[in-house]
Amino acid sequence: MEYEAVIGLETHVQLKTKSKMWCGCANTFGSDPNTNVCPVCLGMPGVLPVANEEALKLTVLTGLLLNCEIPKFAKFDRKNYFYPDSPKNFQVTQYDRPSTKNGFLDFEFNGEGSENGLARVRITRAHLEEDVGKNTHFDRHSGVDFNRAGVPLLEIVSEPDMNGPEMAYAYLKSLVDVLVRGGISDCDLEKGMVRCDVNVSVRPVGSTTLGAKIEIKNMNSFSGVRRALEYEIPRQIEVVKRGGKLSQETRRWDDVANMTESMRSKEDAHDYRYFPEPDLMPFEPTDTWLAEVRSRVPELPLARKQRFITTYGLPAGDAEVLKDNVPLGDFFEAAAKDVKHPKSIANYVINNLPARLADTGTSLADVKFPPAALRELVDLVDSGKINTKSAQEVFVEMFATGEKPAVIVEKKGLTQVSDTGAIEKFCDDVIAANPGPSADFKAGKEAALNFLKGQVMKLSKGKANPGLVGEILARKIRG
Ligand SMILES: [Zn+2]
Repeated sequence: MEYEAVIGLETHVQLKTKSKMWCGCANTFGSDPNTNVCPVCLGMPGVLPVANEEALKLTVLTGLLLNCEIPKFAKFDRKNYFYPDSPKNFQVTQYDRPSTKNGFLDFEFNGEGSENGLARVRITRAHLEEDVGKNTHFDRHSGVDFNRAGVPLLEIVSEPDMNGPEMAYAYLKSLVDVLVRGGISDCDLEKGMVRCDVNVSVRPVGSTTLGAKIEIKNMNSFSGVRRALEYEIPRQIEVVKRGGKLSQETRRWDDVANMTESMRSKEDAHDYRYFPEPDLMPFEPTDTWLAEVRSRVPELPLARKQRFITTYGLPAGDAEVLKDNVPLGDFFEAAAKDVKHPKSIANYVINNLPARLADTGTSLADVKFPPAALRELVDLVDSGKINTKSAQEVFVEMFATGEKPAVIVEKKGLTQVSDTGAIEKFCDDVIAANPGPSADFKAGKEAALNFLKGQVMKLSKGKANPGLVGEILARKIRG
């Protein structure tokens, strides 16, 4: 019997706000322990939380980016448990009435479950909660740092729509792309801004019931998620194939041993005794408020890539580069407006420009020529005024000085020689000086023509029109 994996992900993302969720303490990474704290985030008795409005906006914005419904009524709840990193002994979260629900994320993926290079994972909900502090264990004692306690945290829950490690990896990469582009979070995994719980089960192919759900907790790297699934899926299949039975449990991934191990079974699952948070009003966004958040929706990476391909006819590789580097993509668009060959513009923007920027330590914002100058440069080539080799020289010069391409061509005398009389003279000289290669070409060795062309270009100081040179040489030698 063949088995398949069913995977759902719960992704926790720290929101990019200046202050924490319920108090004015700074939301920053790397401060000295317990310096960004106050009675509210330390959970002192009698304090009252005040909701961070920007966090509410980022939550709803995430919902919009992930094609979610935004309910007119949402509320906060207490999730009760004791743990040293949570001084209040409860976490404020959204239990049954989240701020966003029923969305989806489309992303690039080639593999089972994809169509035309795209896959879709449904989003159950993205709800707002708060982060907890951080425990550090030393030799003989442990310490807890509450700087992170009360940092706004978004939990993005997916439906179990993924079928393997690669698909889960592609989903996470794309999710982070979207969140970074939307300004929701910096998603710095090194700083623990994204953490992931993985739910995975296996079942016979064709079955529609879900197998026992195994949860792998607190993954902090996407390659870790992929490796954990690469281990866990065959493990589960092996158990079932041997006639064993899997039961619901929580496991942890050991990145050194490269295996998962059991942490706790369903029997010791927590009962969190959720109840509505009495200190916070329900969240009921008005139309005006929603419209303001909606106005912050940017063009998302996948849509941008697809637009670069369809609008400018660029190859997928070029579109990918211009999607990832937004300022470079914007520069390209400013230059490529209404040009016949956007691909030529893309070549300069993707290859020549970054190379010059890197060599000179210049930033894109300080480039001396305007995007329109690239259009002029490409026009000079298209109209036959200069050849592509000279264009490279012009580019280097316009990068250095900011002068207009036409001015540089004039100044450096780069105008292409398309005067057939002049080219014929060059060709005659080259044929006379190279009887061997000429005879080779006449005898059918095509490669010999390239050598002769090269000689003519050299003689013309790179200014001859290469197309004409090839034609004239061939005509003269073949007779
Ligand atoms: Zn505080």
